[in-house]
Amino acid sequence: MTPEFFILIKEEIKPMEAQTGSLTLANLVDPREKTYFNVLLGISILIWVCVVLSIIGLLAVGVVALIAWFAHGLLVARLRSEGVRITPEQYPALHQTFTEVCQRLGLAEVPDLYLLQEGGLLNAFATRHAGRNFVVLYSSFVEILGPSSPMIKFLIGHELGHLQRKHLTKRMFVAPGTIVPLLAEAYHRACESTCDRYGAFASGDLPASMMALTILASGREAASVDTTHFAAQHFQTRDFFVSWHELIIGYPTLSQRVAQVLGFSDPQYAQRPGRHILAYPFAFFFTLFSIRSLVLVYISIVAISVLIALGNQVKGTQQAIQDQLQKQQQDQSTGH
Ligand SMILES: [Zn+2]
Repeated sequence: MTPEFFILIKEEIKPMEAQTGSLTLANLVDPREKTYFNVLLGISILIWVCVVLSIIGLLAVGVVALIAWFAHGLLVARLRSEGVRITPEQYPALHQTFTEVCQRLGLAEVPDLYLLQEGGLLNAFATRHAGRNFVVLYSSFVEILGPSSPMIKFLIGHELGHLQRKHLTKRMFVAPGTIVPLLAEAYHRACESTCDRYGAFASGDLPASMMALTILASGREAASVDTTHFAAQHFQTRDFFVSWHELIIGYPTLSQRVAQVLGFSDPQYAQRPGRHILAYPFAFFFTLFSIRSLVLVYISIVAISVLIALGNQVKGTQQAIQDQLQKQQQDQSTGH
């Protein structure tokens, strides 16, 4: 991440009028996110009912949730103690950008922002623990993009989108439904598309948003990459293996993400090209025979146990009624 690269990026991205094409505050949510969420929620409710009816299942969920909460607490403790908390006094320029993006997206509560050095990795994430929201930017990203560029606004806006849409909380509720092959992946991809919309709207600059995503794909070489050609790559690579890859990952591919952003100013890129039909069964069974299959087996055993227990209880009740009736008949016949 050399200073020369930073200068190159700044020169490539000519200052342009803030524009977001057809993207507005009213259409920031990808419609597929809501659809997949509702399907996942319906399946999850059925599974949650089985879990609650099974004492063992409920205990298992409680133990896993407790372990996850403590583990997550440690992760958050690391960023709160090892990362730099950005405040009006600490890195004011970055704090100013963060505040502006929060206001543009209409956040009622401003999360804590941290800067973390992770060995040159280009990443950012949002998380939540003990009722507090956190946004974390890896320092290499800020080093490349600068603290006030529309590209850094895109990244911040993307992470704020996850918080604004409560993706972290929702994913816990619909976790049981993710045993259905390909469904969780589709939901996660839709969530990421939503957050790219938040990012693009926050940046107010579609080309800069495309460049931010292109940097994820090509790092310091992004300044030499034509983002429109990269978007077109998504439409050119529709074969069996690419389709399979697309179906089993929790993000839209980077070329697709760039195309989706470009689609807000150029409708031909807003179209969704089809996938190779054979990729669906391959991706389905690939996902089915993953770790999820073990969870599926476990839940099936719990569900069957619950059904057997309920069946036995019904039989027992029927038997008790019959015994009672027989006893009454015997009592009547003996004159008591
Ligand atoms: Zn994301």
